Amino acid sequence: MQTHPFGPARRDVAAVGQGTWNLERAPRKEAVAALRRGLDLGMTHIDTAEMYGAGESEECVAEAIAGRRDEVFLVSKVLPGNATRKGTVKACEQSLKRLATDRLDCYLLHWRESAPLAETIAGLEDLARAGKIRAWGVSNFDAADLEEALAIAGPGRIACNQVLYHLQQRAIEHAVLPWCEAHGVALVGYTPFGDRFPGPSTPGGRVLAEIGTARGATPRQVALAFLVRRPALFAIPKASRVAHTEENARAGTLVLSEDEFRRIDAAFPRGARPRSLPMG
Ligand code: NAP
Repeated sequence: MQTHPFGPARRDVAAVGQGTWNLERAPRKEAVAALRRGLDLGMTHIDTAEMYGAGESEECVAEAIAGRRDEVFLVSKVLPGNATRKGTVKACEQSLKRLATDRLDCYLLHWRESAPLAETIAGLEDLARAGKIRAWGVSNFDAADLEEALAIAGPGRIACNQVLYHLQQRAIEHAVLPWCEAHGVALVGYTPFGDRFPGPSTPGGRVLAEIGTARGATPRQVALAFLVRRPALFAIPKASRVAHTEENARAGTLVLSEDEFRRIDAAFPRGARPRSLPMG
């Protein structure tokens, strides 16, 4: 599994990790087995949130990482409605309880709403000082939001920005990715397979299939390899079936050539910069 340096602390983190949104909808045994298989295969970056299944996803993660906490780069998120200074601390403490751990590797503001950013950041810094989180980041932040967060927090504090990123939605490449790369902020792409993964009868799907056939890989593995092609980029596909986890993990060892990048780039044009950052 390829690792990339994560944020200003540059911790080595699996480029392809594991998402957990709706994981609680699968039979618990299967979901836990899928996450544990992912850990075996080096997908040690696990992303969850207090929102997912109203805490049930975190409980599922707790079961999967039991006895293996030190292997995991564990990320959770505070809902914007809880993101006052005190609310952020309380929400994190509840996540820690559900996750049956004493610390998170990274804690994110899930998206921005009405809570003043300075309040949320003060709560995140309180948590960092208390050793309850090792780093903090944001999610669904456009370049202007990142600029504002940087002005409040100062340099070297924002570890990551988690945003929607897949082959049919490349909006972040206009301003967010360059900003993150310039400031040493990890860019974690969510929903890497998009709303509907491009099938073999579509022009883009055909390109993925051709490259895959030549490289002994599946179209989804080719797509994931493209999405983590730069050191700042990470992807967190969610899988509640072991077979899916195994397929996704193999993407973490596939390095595409410049020519293959160019072909994928041409098949899935990034399009014009939208007025606001798309969210999943
Ligand atoms: P996704 O990972 O792109 O897609 C998940 C779907 O793909 C599931 O139905 C899964 O099926 C299926 N799948 C996974 N691997 C597969 C494979 N190899 N072959 C065929 N199907 C496969 O979408 P997502 O869950 O929206 O995004 C990933 C993670 O990002 C989330 O789980 C969450 O942790 C995070 N996220 C964050 C935000 C945010 O606002 N920060 C928003 C959305 C998502 P099975 O489950 O049946 O295996």
